[in-house]
Amino acid sequence: MTRAYIPQAAYLIASLLFIFGLKRLSSPRTARSGNLVAAVGMALALGGTFLLPHISHFGWILLAIAIGAVPGWLLAKRVKMTAMPQMVSLFNGMGGACALFISLGEWFKMPVITLRGLHLIVTRSFGECFPMLLGVVFGSVSFTGSLVAFGKLQGLITEKPVRWPLQKANNALLFAALIAAAGAATHRQDQSFWIIALAVAALTLGVLQVLPIGGADMPVVISVLNSCTGLAAAVTGFAMHNMSMIIAGTLVGAAGSLLTVLMCKAMNRSLAKVVFGSFGLAPAAGAAAAKSDQIMREIAAAECAVMMGYARKVIIIPGYGLAVGQGQHLVHELEELLEKRGVEVKYAIHPVAGRMPGHMNVLLAEADVPYPKLLDMEEVNPEFDQADVALIVGANDVVNPAARTEPDSPIYGMPILNADKAKNVIVIKRGRGAGFAGIENSLFYNLKTRMLFGDAKKALQQLVTEIKAL
Ligand code: NAP
Repeated sequence: MTRAYIPQAAYLIASLLFIFGLKRLSSPRTARSGNLVAAVGMALALGGTFLLPHISHFGWILLAIAIGAVPGWLLAKRVKMTAMPQMVSLFNGMGGACALFISLGEWFKMPVITLRGLHLIVTRSFGECFPMLLGVVFGSVSFTGSLVAFGKLQGLITEKPVRWPLQKANNALLFAALIAAAGAATHRQDQSFWIIALAVAALTLGVLQVLPIGGADMPVVISVLNSCTGLAAAVTGFAMHNMSMIIAGTLVGAAGSLLTVLMCKAMNRSLAKVVFGSFGLAPAAGAAAAKSDQIMREIAAAECAVMMGYARKVIIIPGYGLAVGQGQHLVHELEELLEKRGVEVKYAIHPVAGRMPGHMNVLLAEADVPYPKLLDMEEVNPEFDQADVALIVGANDVVNPAARTEPDSPIYGMPILNADKAKNVIVIKRGRGAGFAGIENSLFYNLKTRMLFGDAKKALQQLVTEIKAL
C-alpha cells in the first residue's frame, strides 16, 4: 500500500469506529466504552490526516490540537453533572466555529491570477462554492446560537425569552440578506467581501434566533444546533474532499435530528413551536393562577419513613433538583434500605426530566443504581395506581397534572409521569418555587400529597437515618 492510501484506510476504519461507538452510546451500560471507541476513531482520523501527502506545518497543527485539547480536557474533568447541558452547548459551538473557519480557509485558498499587474480572482462556479457557503452558514449559526444557549443555561444572560418588535420580520430580512450575500459571493469579483458579509449575517442570525427561546427549551435548541454542526462538518468535508469528516458530520447531524424529534415528542411540542414559540415567556393565566386559597401540607422525615418503610411499592421520581442537590448516592441508599425491608422500589424516568436528555439515567448510573430499576414513562405510568408512595425528589414540571388538565398551561399536552395516581405522594423540594416552565403545580396542593421541604441531599439523609431507625 502506498503512503497515499494510508490516510484513506485510517478514515475508513475511523468511520466504522464512529458508527460502532454511536451504537454503543444508545445504552447506559455500553455508553462509556462507546465513547472510548469513538475517541479512538477520532485519534485514528487525526493520525491519518498527518500522513496526507499535502500536509505540512505539523508544528502548527500540534499547537492547534493542544489549544483545543487542553482546555477541553480540563473543562470536561471539572464540570459538574448539573452543568453538563451548557458544557455540551459550548463544545457544540466550538464544532460550529471549526466548520466556519475551515470553510473560510478553503474559500480564501481561491486562486488569484496576476495579468499585466492586475490581480484577477478566478470566480468559482456555484456548485464548487456550495459546500463552503453551507459550511459558513451552518457553522456560524451553530457557533453563535450555541454560545447564546450556553449563556442562558449558565445564567450569564436571562433564561427568559428575549423579544423585540418586528422580531420575525427582522429575522426574515436577515435570512434574505444571507441568501443575497451567498449569491453575490459566487458571482461577483469582490468575493472576499461577500463571504465575510455572509459569515457576519449568519453569526447574527444564530444570536437572534436563539435569544427569543426560553431556558426550558434550551436542550431542544442544543439538539437542533447539534444537527446543524453535524451538517456543517459534513458539507465542510465535501469542500475538503475528506471522507471521514463527511461521515462523522452526517452521523452527528442525523443523531442530533433524531434526538430533536424524540425530545419534541416527549414535550408534545412541534419544533416550529420550540423555535418560533414563546414557551416560558409568561405563565398562562389559567396555569399561573397561584393557588393562594390552597395549602401545601408539610410532613416530617420520620413520618415519611414510616409511610415508605411499611409500603409494598414505592416509585421514586427523580428530577432536576436531585441533580442540583447531588442526592443520587443517598437515593440509592434509601432504595437499598427499603428493599431490605421487602419494599418493591422502582424509579420513574421522564424523558425530559432534568436539563438534558438522559440526565436522570446518567445521574443514577453514577450512583450505581441498577439499570433495570429505571423505568421509562410508558413503562411506569400504568404502575402508579398500585404504588403506595410516589416519592418525588426535585421534580416539578414532569409531574404537573396541568399538562393533562389545563389547556391554557404552557406545558399542556406534554406527557407526564402520573404520580398523582399513587396512593400517597411525598415531594422533596426546597421551597414553594416553580419548576423550569415557571408555573404552579396543582399536585403539590393535592390532598394526598405531603411536602418534605429541604435540600434533596439533606432530606434524603434524614429519610435514610429514619428508615434505619425503624
Ligand atoms: P423542574 O420542573 O425544573 O423542577 C425542579 C424542581 O426541583 C424545582 O421545583 C425546585 O424547587 C426543585 N429543586 C431545585 N433544587 C433543589 C434542591 N437542591 N433540592 C431539592 N429540590 C430542588 O425539573 P423537572 O421536573 O426535572 O423538569 C425538567 C424541565 O426541564 C421540564 O420543564 C422540561 O420540559 C424542561 N426540559 C428538559 C429537557 C431535557 O432534555 N431534560 C429538555 C427541554 C426542557 P425548589 O426551588 O422549591 O427547590
